[in-house]
Amino acid sequence: MSGTDHPRTDWHRRATALAADGRAHIGGRRRDTGGRREPVVSPANGGQIAELGICAAADVDRAVAAARRVQPAWAARPDQERKEVLLRLADSLERHSEELALLETLDIGKPITQTTTVDLPGVIATFRYYAEAIDKCSGALPSTPPGATALVAREPLGVVAAIVPWNYPLEIASWKVAPALAAGNSVVLKPSEQSSLTALRMADLAADAGLPDGALNVVTGGAETGTALAAHMDVDVLAFTGSTRVARELLVASGRSNLKRLALEAGGKSSTLVFADADLTGAAEMAAAGAFYNQGQVCSATSRILVERPVLEEFTRALVKAAQAHRPTDPLGGGAGNGALISTAHTDSVQEWIRRGKADGELLDGGRRVEITGSDAYLEPAVITGLGADHPLHTEEVFGPVAVVHPFDTEDEAVHLANATRYGLAASLWTEDFRRVQRTAARLVAGTVSVNTVDALSVTTPFGGFKQSGFGRDLSLHAFDNYTALKTTWLQWG
Ligand code: NAD
Repeated sequence: MSGTDHPRTDWHRRATALAADGRAHIGGRRRDTGGRREPVVSPANGGQIAELGICAAADVDRAVAAARRVQPAWAARPDQERKEVLLRLADSLERHSEELALLETLDIGKPITQTTTVDLPGVIATFRYYAEAIDKCSGALPSTPPGATALVAREPLGVVAAIVPWNYPLEIASWKVAPALAAGNSVVLKPSEQSSLTALRMADLAADAGLPDGALNVVTGGAETGTALAAHMDVDVLAFTGSTRVARELLVASGRSNLKRLALEAGGKSSTLVFADADLTGAAEMAAAGAFYNQGQVCSATSRILVERPVLEEFTRALVKAAQAHRPTDPLGGGAGNGALISTAHTDSVQEWIRRGKADGELLDGGRRVEITGSDAYLEPAVITGLGADHPLHTEEVFGPVAVVHPFDTEDEAVHLANATRYGLAASLWTEDFRRVQRTAARLVAGTVSVNTVDALSVTTPFGGFKQSGFGRDLSLHAFDNYTALKTTWLQWG
């Protein structure tokens, strides 16, 4: 059911009736943990929606031990059985998708129209995809000398820790949990302390669906809890999505502990390149979506918009118009438009970036703080121009609804500008010239190049970065590389 099928009051009524449990999920059930408890405040309306139990190092130990105990038996279950458990979980997520969508909207402020139609369907599709992949991936029989046969098989690595951010809480969690479990690992998931409630509910549903106790644990807390996982001597893999700053710390933690394998999906500063021959109206609408969707809190947000000079004015006018569709509105209202940013503190920091852009360049539109339903975590999308290409707004991640527009004169210059950041997550390219597509896409240093669209993504295609956007890939069958190792068994018979 889509977010627009419920009248505004219905979602509000359901939100008032919602009771969320913020206790960790360890060894198959909810538990009180050793650390403090913290209020969970909804950025959508400023109200408290739960209390989060913060996990101490001893709770992390308990979760890792539970995961270690069950993993060999989980991996040894016939493929068909593991697949059935994950498919049952997908069905259960689907049955509970409105409850989960509402919880996500309240927890992080994104519109119910998006959590019902994008986030939850994405989570369910991810579990189904990896469940179905279990009995469809086979090993290899490489060429060997006469008298020998080599079997190459993929084996699970053991205990996977997954540390995830707050911008797509359940979706990004599913990108890691589903392939890790499908491959026969057990998981200790640590959601962001700002967005833990849907992951905890998912663990409840997984237990009901027949996932053995301890195969999926959810430890709650912030940097301290994450640090305990990263330094743990009995965690085999750490799959992370978050900032480049924390990714660096995880590399050190792995080196200082047990050399656990890392897959790091980190920050980004991605560009849209608009050539003069593009469909300018379509490009402007999608460029606005690329920069402002999810309140601009997207790692692959194309927040730098590079435009060929002859169409700069016409395109910028269309972009400012298209930005109107992303003005903030009540996230439970069921209409189009943006929701709240993750918190008042984060909104303050994004507003500071807008002030800086306005001081050093020109604010063409938006950028005002708005109060909606008792919360001031709402911002009009801001379009800024007139900044040097080396201005921090061109090179640093803002993680909010702020787009910078900049002209270019040649294809070479466009590629050079797009590549001139330390990140390499995504790029979007707008042109009708297919030869230019081939040339330019090949030269852009980005994990995904979307041509005549933005932020193209599917469960079937790999997602991840180059340079300081990290390494490893989420989604597609390539995600299994993060959670498995190849084993060669050499049979000498001749
Ligand atoms: P963050 O790096 O602050 O936190 C991410 C996770 O790491 C959270 O669960 C947090 O509690 C945990 N954490 C924080 N400090 C830690 C430490 N020292 N040790 C272990 N764990 C620690 O990121 P965020 O603010 O939650 O999310 C925004 C960032 O995530 C942005 O930089 C964005 O680009 C990035 N992101 C990347 C992708 C991608 O696929 N590349 C996707 C979404 C978000």
